Amino acid sequence: MSKDKKEKTEGQLLEEKLFWNPKHVADLKPDIKEEAFEFCEAYKYFLNNGKTERECVNFAIYKLKNAKYQKFDPEKKYKPGDKVYQVNRGKAIIAATIGTESVDKGIRMSIAHVDSPRLDLKPNPMYEDTDLSFFKTHYYGGIRKYQWATIPLAIHGVICRSDGEMIHINIGERKEDPVFCVTDLLPHLSSEQDKRTLREGIKGEELNLLIGSLPFDDEEIKERVKLQTLKILHEEYGITEKDFICGELEIVPAHKARDVGFDRSMLGAYGQDDRVCAYPALMAEIGVKNPKYTTMCVLTDKEEIGSTGNTGLESDYTMHFMQYLAEMQGVNDKTMLRNSKCLSADVNAAFDPTFPTPFDKRNSSIMNKGCTLAKYTGSGGKYDTSDADATFIGEITRMMDKHKIAWQSGELGAVDQGGGGTVAMFVARHNIDVVDLGVPVLSMHSPFEIVSKMDVYHTFLAFKAFVDLENK
Ligand code: MN
Ligand code: MN
Repeated sequence: MSKDKKEKTEGQLLEEKLFWNPKHVADLKPDIKEEAFEFCEAYKYFLNNGKTERECVNFAIYKLKNAKYQKFDPEKKYKPGDKVYQVNRGKAIIAATIGTESVDKGIRMSIAHVDSPRLDLKPNPMYEDTDLSFFKTHYYGGIRKYQWATIPLAIHGVICRSDGEMIHINIGERKEDPVFCVTDLLPHLSSEQDKRTLREGIKGEELNLLIGSLPFDDEEIKERVKLQTLKILHEEYGITEKDFICGELEIVPAHKARDVGFDRSMLGAYGQDDRVCAYPALMAEIGVKNPKYTTMCVLTDKEEIGSTGNTGLESDYTMHFMQYLAEMQGVNDKTMLRNSKCLSADVNAAFDPTFPTPFDKRNSSIMNKGCTLAKYTGSGGKYDTSDADATFIGEITRMMDKHKIAWQSGELGAVDQGGGGTVAMFVARHNIDVVDLGVPVLSMHSPFEIVSKMDVYHTFLAFKAFVDLENK
């Protein structure tokens, strides 16, 4: 500190007391940079090995088993400190640690989603045109379609073959693997296409994946390239064209997670919405030991298409799990729900100085100001959201301040500029206290989403503080 440091003026003191300006993460807890960067190395491994909901669930199972979690059995009785997990159809997972208090005193839960925007194969995807073979795709979730052309793509997923066997496919990730691509016009010939709106730059039915070009050696055959491509797939996986209908094949960017910036302060990767919350939430749950209140981490599916389906949060699978716990302990499940508290762990749009217009800067999350607390999401006059209760927000913000966690408030864009939803409203409907908390992301829903490593780490610290909340 400099000797001739001036005393603060009355105005400065008052400003400090009355104004709220969230600090830069580097100023709040400067000594955690190394820990944060190290945490993100493990997070990168998760991203590179979890590019689909199924892969993320498999990763979670591996981590949970290592941490002595047991497969949940509703018929069994569990004692405080026991750790259990339950998988829903390979695409969603619940992990929990039983508390010393019975569950009607409430459960501390965090819920993130592990599905991300992508291209899915259509049920009958294969065709040939002009001596090239392709897969037809149907995009999943909100994508800006033009961003998916001319980048290397990988194919991940499963096919339940006609003999009943589940075939796992993952091509395009290893150095020696081929990749796949959606083509685009050259600028020399794009004058017609250039007149389209950006939204229509590449249309849905133009998201065709190039998968082969060599013909089968028999001139009697009409679709020789398609046959040759399918022959390779048949030799490798034993599948025929009809098997695609029993498949869930997802087309994702083939690139790996990378450090971004000269200072390596940021991390760029596909699928950070919402794996950037899923990973910290899972790690916080795994770290829980002998809690007072039962803790729970849910990694769910289908958030990107409205939480629909039996693996999404509109399904009752999470509630059923909680009800099993209540039944097991002979307590009232309605009381359990009313006393439970949930962090809906999802990302928020970071303010982008290159594109300031759709944001209200005073109410946007800023990179490196810590995790974002979003009272509500939704759109058009707060439709389709859970508008979190002031008392609960007070509890969460006091908790974060107490633990010196960098946090900020964020709204998803300016009023009437669009919007989005999270799982919060599907939790709130069960009379559980819930608020959105997550990491600010630049270029969200693009093939290369960017986050700040320190924001990721502070989000982990927030989940950790939350599962510990009055929990010792
Ligand atoms: Mn999300
Ligand atoms: Mn999303």
